[in-house]
Amino acid sequence: MREYLEVFLEKMGLSATERQIGQMQRCYEMLVERNRSVNLTAVTEARDAALKHFADSLAPLTLPDFTPTGKLIDVGTGAGFPALPIKILCPAVEVVAMDAQRKKLAFIDDVIAELGLEGIRTLHARAEDAGRDPLLRETFDHAVARAVAPLPILVEYAMPFVRTGGRFIAYKGPGGPAEAEAAAGAVRKLGGVCDTVFVKTGDETLERCLCLVKKIAPTPSAYPRKAGIPEKKPL
Ligand code: SAM
Repeated sequence: MREYLEVFLEKMGLSATERQIGQMQRCYEMLVERNRSVNLTAVTEARDAALKHFADSLAPLTLPDFTPTGKLIDVGTGAGFPALPIKILCPAVEVVAMDAQRKKLAFIDDVIAELGLEGIRTLHARAEDAGRDPLLRETFDHAVARAVAPLPILVEYAMPFVRTGGRFIAYKGPGGPAEAEAAAGAVRKLGGVCDTVFVKTGDETLERCLCLVKKIAPTPSAYPRKAGIPEKKPL
């Protein structure tokens, strides 16, 4: 895993210390081990995991204007992707890894303890509920989400967390620009403007488009709607 990861990161123009590579390697070992008893991921083979979990999670770091500071929330983090690799490479970022499934968060808590990571915590909640919590709403500089929902739904989950001037980054595939077009109305209602960019992932077989949703105005208090509604009736 370590050797593959080093190659992918170099291709992406990212650098990691020996310690950070070691932390991602340990995280990978723990993922494979836990996956024997809890279904966390279908991706466990070393090269695949290095590319699809670790290098891919770090894609926003290749953006020239990504600032590795402030507060970041990972909406629908699952087993900690992209939250854990971002925290490992950007220790100064304060991270909240949120998911509706507790068993996945228990794994992240174990990784946090094992690696001694600071400034990262898990949050067990549905995005539609947490987005109404005044302690969380409009308090994040960055929100990220990978493989959670189509963009018109996802923006309603994520945008309420972002402060005006902050940005939501959605990890999408080749269909990213089309999703961004479909989500344009929803993005506007939630106080954002959306752009898309294709970024390097370390291997041409993995095409990664990032939808960059800049928050230019506060999200109206009507959003997010009640749990389940964004999915049933996307904006
Ligand atoms: N982001 C991770 C990754 O890329 O490996 C996990 C992706 S997994 C396919 C989708 C995750 O989103 C699940 O763990 C699910 O529980 C979570 N999720 C879906 N809808 C959610 C919601 N409304 N609020 C919180 N979590 C949600």
